[in-house]
Amino acid sequence: MSAPSHFEDVVVIGAGYAGATAAAYLTKAGRRVTLLEGHATPGGCAGFFKRNGFSFDVGATTLNGLGEGLPLARLSEDFQFESKFEKVDPAVHIHMDGQVVKRFTDIDSWSSELAPLVEDRSELLSFLHTVERKSEEFWQIATGYPLSPYGISDYFKYVGMGPSRLFSLLGGFLSSIESRIPERLKRSPQFMRLVNELLLISAQGYADKCPAVVGFLGLGYMSDMYYPWGGISSMADELCHKIKSYGGSVSFNDPARSVKSVPGGYEVQSRKGSLQTRAIVFAVPIWNVAELLGEMPVATKVDDKASKQGECWSAITATMGLRFIRPVEGLYHQVHIQNAPPEVHSGSLFVSVSHPDDRERAPEGFRSVTVSTHAQWVDFSHERTTEEYQQQKQRLGQYILDQLKGHFPIDEESVVEFRIGTPRTFNRFTRRYNGWVGGIPWKAGSLPLGRPGYRLPGKELYLIGDTALPGQGVSGVVLGAQSLADRLLG
Ligand SMILES: Cc1cc2nc3c(=O)[nH]c(=O)nc-3n(C[C@H](O)[C@H](O)[C@H](O)COP(=O)(O)OP(=O)(O)OC[C@H]3O[C@@H](n4cnc5c(N)ncnc54)[C@H](O)[C@@H]3O)c2cc1C
Repeated sequence: MSAPSHFEDVVVIGAGYAGATAAAYLTKAGRRVTLLEGHATPGGCAGFFKRNGFSFDVGATTLNGLGEGLPLARLSEDFQFESKFEKVDPAVHIHMDGQVVKRFTDIDSWSSELAPLVEDRSELLSFLHTVERKSEEFWQIATGYPLSPYGISDYFKYVGMGPSRLFSLLGGFLSSIESRIPERLKRSPQFMRLVNELLLISAQGYADKCPAVVGFLGLGYMSDMYYPWGGISSMADELCHKIKSYGGSVSFNDPARSVKSVPGGYEVQSRKGSLQTRAIVFAVPIWNVAELLGEMPVATKVDDKASKQGECWSAITATMGLRFIRPVEGLYHQVHIQNAPPEVHSGSLFVSVSHPDDRERAPEGFRSVTVSTHAQWVDFSHERTTEEYQQQKQRLGQYILDQLKGHFPIDEESVVEFRIGTPRTFNRFTRRYNGWVGGIPWKAGSLPLGRPGYRLPGKELYLIGDTALPGQGVSGVVLGAQSLADRLLG
């Protein structure tokens, strides 16, 4: 049965990078689309907030996937963005054991930085070359083959990639990245700590658990990393403007509350009213989808799939407006830490500093800084009074500040804005179930078949975003959205 004429073609729920991208492609192709966003601004985990002349990135701060043929390059070309990005090299300054190791993008320079940590430089060089080669190979597979197979013909496409690539891919999911690191490099605890902390931020897991495919992509991430001028959400904002210019509708402060079946499609109930639509693209985590589907019979199947995915990470963040008392080299820093409070589930803090000339981020002489580290919902979920929660945040804030003072030229007067975010903050502002962010962690030893793809049970219901394949990161969710849009637009 075809849908009545007052139906939208598609309602997209969530204006993070996944939802904004999908809605932009669909409206550009002439589909009637409404994008619903619960918050006042787009971007979600790659969003921002403004305070006293500063603009703070709330979570994500770095971009990659802007190289030829990669998702953000395609997005930028398809929508002719005005947003500017600047390649950062060294990508990250790693502060560990009293020294700074620079993550240069060029392999020779990067290996010179790492050489003092390992016994054998030639093995190190060969491993770093393998990382580059494999990361390129897996990007090509991710952009050239179906991410989420629809039917038998898609499985034939995988077979078409040839035995050597196919075995490399399968082996890359079944083995861990740790098993690909030469033994002589593994003997260095410092080298392994450095690798593990890089993997935790780029691949959401340490080397022993992380599949080789994801590990190679994670370690390769910083070979091509960019600073987004104006903040990480600038492209999401542009996408929303494009959607409107193509005749689509973007409704902020308008969270979807429930979905039900109606003849010819679905009805989405949101804060501002209700919409009837032929199809729904959920660009929110799969657990949120199960809640939105509520009483619909497919909800149980989605819930089953969601509950099989296990626990995810959350984050603690500190956003600060500050003035360094001496110049600081580099925009991105990973600071290895010790004696962390029990709520910090990582051995490092990731510190992102706005460019000194980025006036959209901070007033002259000041910088906008976002610090993030891994956390778990359980440490914040149990009953606490407001006062206890404030004390917990104050304790975490003091710890982060003390760590930064050991590595950056700041004193008490340097910091003019300071705010702590916790898993509860992510839960409140992005509505993400349990404040879980960064997608579903990968586990070496299993193929991605059990992970959510973009096809949900139920006709014309789709899932994108960081809990669907290919997974987390701005470039990952943009690729997922492009892949779904290509499929829907045939
Ligand atoms: C601390 C931190 C650091 C990170 N660092 C990086 C990084 O440097 N680089 C990188 O590439 N990635 C990074 N990531 C990961 C990246 O931010 C995410 O994987 C990606 O932005 C997820 O996009 P998404 O669209 O899937 O989901 P989200 O960004 O969560 O977007 C979902 C949107 O849906 C909205 N929403 C939720 N429920 C509803 C509802 N019922 N109705 C309407 N709207 C709703 C939310 O408000 C939100 O805007 C980081 C993440 C975190 C938390």
